[in-house]
Amino acid sequence: MPTVLEIKPVQAAAHPATKLLTRAELDAYDPRSESWQRQFQRRYTHHSELKGVLKGLEDVNETVYGKFAVAVTPYMAQLMDPNDPQCPIRLQYLPSHFEETKPGFATLLDQLGEEGDTIPGTSIVHRYPRRVLFLVSNTCATLCRFCTRKRMVSQPAGSVHKEQIEASIDYIANNPDIEDVLLSGGDPLTFADERLDDILGQIRRRAPHVRFLRMGSRMVVQLPTRVTPELCAILEKHRVQMLNIHINHPKEITPLLRERVKMIQKAGVMMGLQTVCLKGVNDNVATMRELFMQSIEMGVRPYYVYSTDMVEGAHHFVVPHRRMLELYEGLRGWISGPAVPTFIVDGLGGLGKLPIIPQYVTEELLPDGSGTTIKCRNYAGKTVEMPGLGLGFALPTQSN
Ligand SMILES: *Cc1c(COP(=O)(O)O)cnc(C)c1O
Ligand code: SF4
Repeated sequence: MPTVLEIKPVQAAAHPATKLLTRAELDAYDPRSESWQRQFQRRYTHHSELKGVLKGLEDVNETVYGKFAVAVTPYMAQLMDPNDPQCPIRLQYLPSHFEETKPGFATLLDQLGEEGDTIPGTSIVHRYPRRVLFLVSNTCATLCRFCTRKRMVSQPAGSVHKEQIEASIDYIANNPDIEDVLLSGGDPLTFADERLDDILGQIRRRAPHVRFLRMGSRMVVQLPTRVTPELCAILEKHRVQMLNIHINHPKEITPLLRERVKMIQKAGVMMGLQTVCLKGVNDNVATMRELFMQSIEMGVRPYYVYSTDMVEGAHHFVVPHRRMLELYEGLRGWISGPAVPTFIVDGLGGLGKLPIIPQYVTEELLPDGSGTTIKCRNYAGKTVEMPGLGLGFALPTQSN
């Protein structure tokens, strides 16, 4: 059997970390008071463990656990509204009856078709020219009910073995065309510092052709104390140029998160934000405006808003495409330009990321074919026609 990478708790197991089962215990808990590994051990892994902490908890049946595990850090539980089952953080992390059955979605565990683009023997998804997605871990600090990688995240069969990591680094080292490596998972920050140091160091040493080294992590948001001076020194040493975090609602932005984001930024790492468009969580203009403005306030540039993928147990989060266009229109022009991300739908079966862009400019052929009229509509709905553009040139016949 290949060795599965394990998360090593730093402290001795003499005093095993216990779960915080009452409201009083949870309220009294200070996430800064102990190592991130110990907080990791205190995660709630069954909804019943939250009964003493949250009111109005849904009693889902056990079939849910066979499909996707539950894991919630104490810090994340502190952010949940104890009285409101519709709390945007509860909706993201607590299992619901919607996950119990939904025929038709069951076969779509890999809707993005990532398996088909995975290089055999590695955990590298090589879909686009010149850049690769390197899935290093199959664990996250807190598990999102809408996770697009349910096929591997928290599944024993999805474990990334040491041999695969080595083969992945070989692949990157042996392909001089690869100039951009994105470490993701799962969450790369679930690894111990030494392991991360080793992987990043090997990429930098053995693949000098890699110009851009970036990471995606939600742990910064779910367990901010994972960000330590030691971790930041590793990011700086290996010149990790970008770290994307994943936030779906302004409630997830706290003083502790801001403090740790600042530490990463001081290590010279550019930071971006990824968001999933989720029904009931953030599918309204006011929430999105607030989220993206708070994000640029802390110097984190909104990058992508993804549509919810049609993975099993996530159908109740899906926001229609048309609504996503409206949400975009509620941002562009209305808030600071740098606060407006690109909206993305991931094409079924490996088509990849497709931008969802409302039409602001349309082109019409002049009746005599001598050029085009550009019809423009601004963010507030004012329109103008610009007949000059394209004048004097007959449009080339379209061939494809
Ligand atoms: C998202 C993704 C990337 C990175 O795409 P960018 O648009 O460059 O951020 C690379 N590979 C795969 C397979 C991806 O899904
Ligand atoms: S953080 Fe990302 S990979 Fe992890 S459970 Fe959530 S969506 Fe899935």
